[in-house]
Amino acid sequence: MSTLVVGFPRIGEQRELKKVLEDYWAKKVEFSKVEEVAKDLRKRHWHYQKDAGIEYISSNDFSLYDNMLDTAIMLGAVPERFRELKGQELYFAMARGDDKRVAMEMTKWFNTNYHYIVPELSANDTYSLNIDKIKSEYFEAKSLGIKTKINLIGPITFLSLSKRIDRGEPLELHGKILPLYEELLVEIAKWDDEIVIQIDEPIFVKEPSTKMLSLIKPTYDKLASVSTKIKIIVSTYFEHSNEATKVLVHTPIWAIGLDFIHGKENFDALETLSQSDKVLIAGVVDGRNVWRIDLKKSREILEKIEHSFPKNRTILSTSCSLLHTPFTLKYEEKLDNEIKSWLSFAVEKLDELKLLNQLYFHGSTNEKIEEILEANSSRKASAQIHNQEVQQRVSSLTKLQREGAFEERIKLQREEIGYGTLPTTTIGSFPQTAEVRRARKDLKTGAIGEEAYKAKMREYIDECIAFQEEIDLDILVHGEPERNDMVEYFGQMLEGFAFTQNGWVQSYGSRCVKPPLIYGDVSRPKPMTVEWITYAQSKTDRVVKGMLTGPVTILNWSFVRDDIERSEVSKQIAVAICDEVDDLQKSGIKIIQVDEAAFKEGYPLRASKVKAYEEWAVRDFKIAVSTAKKETQIHTHMCYSEFNDIIKTIEAMDADVISIETARSGNELLKIFKEVGYKQEVGPGVYDIHSPRVPSVEEIKTQIKLLLEVLPKEQLWINPDCGLKTRKWEEVKPALRNMVIATKEVRGEL
Ligand code: GLN
Ligand code: ZN
Repeated sequence: MSTLVVGFPRIGEQRELKKVLEDYWAKKVEFSKVEEVAKDLRKRHWHYQKDAGIEYISSNDFSLYDNMLDTAIMLGAVPERFRELKGQELYFAMARGDDKRVAMEMTKWFNTNYHYIVPELSANDTYSLNIDKIKSEYFEAKSLGIKTKINLIGPITFLSLSKRIDRGEPLELHGKILPLYEELLVEIAKWDDEIVIQIDEPIFVKEPSTKMLSLIKPTYDKLASVSTKIKIIVSTYFEHSNEATKVLVHTPIWAIGLDFIHGKENFDALETLSQSDKVLIAGVVDGRNVWRIDLKKSREILEKIEHSFPKNRTILSTSCSLLHTPFTLKYEEKLDNEIKSWLSFAVEKLDELKLLNQLYFHGSTNEKIEEILEANSSRKASAQIHNQEVQQRVSSLTKLQREGAFEERIKLQREEIGYGTLPTTTIGSFPQTAEVRRARKDLKTGAIGEEAYKAKMREYIDECIAFQEEIDLDILVHGEPERNDMVEYFGQMLEGFAFTQNGWVQSYGSRCVKPPLIYGDVSRPKPMTVEWITYAQSKTDRVVKGMLTGPVTILNWSFVRDDIERSEVSKQIAVAICDEVDDLQKSGIKIIQVDEAAFKEGYPLRASKVKAYEEWAVRDFKIAVSTAKKETQIHTHMCYSEFNDIIKTIEAMDADVISIETARSGNELLKIFKEVGYKQEVGPGVYDIHSPRVPSVEEIKTQIKLLLEVLPKEQLWINPDCGLKTRKWEEVKPALRNMVIATKEVRGEL
């Protein structure tokens, strides 16, 4: 039988798309240049798949910015403020805003680190079909001799992920949207004798509402009856979709795509599926990770599928689009050879898919299989992965949390640190200047030595401390000039982490991230931050807060080994961090902040799995700070404001102080802290650092007073809503100055 790839990365193996887009936005090249590069990339990407022998290759998985945005354009769902624009001006203004219009909102695509543009819909709008992109990509591929399947985001997922700007539920607009999909299919049916359309409905993997479930059958009864020339695949990924699958078998669609890597419960649907006439697109090659397939595990999966589902109706596929993995290993020259032999990025995964196909349908063993089996077993036995000492310590850990209840600790801390009402502080980072970046780069390339580098960093810290004293902030920070990124910095100091040169993954638009790879047991060979923090502390009589990244965030922003449980890896990181906490405290640091910016990001898609995640995530935060004495104050920071569903979990983490991102929501979202009787101290963020605007004293005063309406003054801290590293000093200086003045004025009025 055959193989299918759900979708392919589009940014380019050397981020060609990023570069040309950014040149275009900077007005360095014309739009025709963007089109030329994009066309070339599509061609190369199709050929990668064709050369690997993949049968079902997609068109319309490409995008200049985002596929949800493309779908909004396809449906003519253009918010009013953009309607006077056309073509690429319209498209990029919707994505990024322009001098007259704010951009559309962007948010996380399920539990990935990819972000999509959130469509804005309204009952008053009229929508109309625009098939240009889909058509031109289809025929572009065809002219290259490649007959593609056409990828679409399904109507139910599109609506569910949109927002209504007039009140109301997006799904209520189903009746306006579905006819456009029908019209689209009617058009497509004219293009060829037989066309496969992959309609992505990943929303089916979340606990479906009754409303959503009730829409599945009418939607797919309709779409699958448009033309006999069209074969529809409904594709799901990232979790199981059993509720939807049960409905879909009773519609005339051709095939259903299920993820057997991240949705093991999908096996339960096979029985029902086998009794229907549906083809199964079986996601068996992990599209979310970077490891080479484990042939033993893959064989088990294939056996289970074979056991309940007819082989002649099975097509093997990636578990989801390969968008979420880096492009190719080809450019990794510095990676340790052994580690490299354990890896597989998008291009390499094509071969794995092909290989599994061979194994499944022909049962043959060949050299390639031998090689993988060998890599699998060498990885399992490798000394690089296993650290007896770490395993021993982690499994026999007895101290799982710090001593003393919050009420007792906070009294001691207030005495020890000596802060009064409405203490002021920041989240940690200060502006990353060109000079600082340059120094880090020069150190890396060897242009400057260790000592020269340290001198530059100290100079920055001196200025940063002096500024904070000058404006009279209460709790100071060193400013984090030595960190490029809050996860990478720690990863580079910890054992068990590796870094790629070119392992970029698209995060949004032209932006990519290069997550660290956690391949082995994690340990901390030596202190990571003590030198910088104690240096900063030596420069002032005020208290300097130490800055660490928490275990859950490090985990959620990395590619994590798949040979042990994620919770186990997280626990190892927690143990490494707890040693750092102890070292900081022993060096006289009285406040330590353990950032958990990505705590919420790790939440499972299925409600039934939330509890298990919360349990180990809280456990590991507590382990990370378990070494803190009662007198040592532990802060944490989280980059969001919606705590309604997770407030009890946040409370259970038992940080003495938490800073959060409520600046943009007034005091509305803070109310939950009061409602549940949250005891610990809270710094709700009094101004939005994501904008270059400098807030006035009056504005900040108003914000502080709003906060005081919700929480008592004894519980409140005053700080910006996130780190300041992306801002300029010209913005940060007056903003923080105003923040301190505003706080003092409010204190005077209390
Ligand atoms: N301490 C980090 C900083 O200030 C926290 C950043 C974050 O949570 N995103 O940059
Ligand atoms: Zn933040």
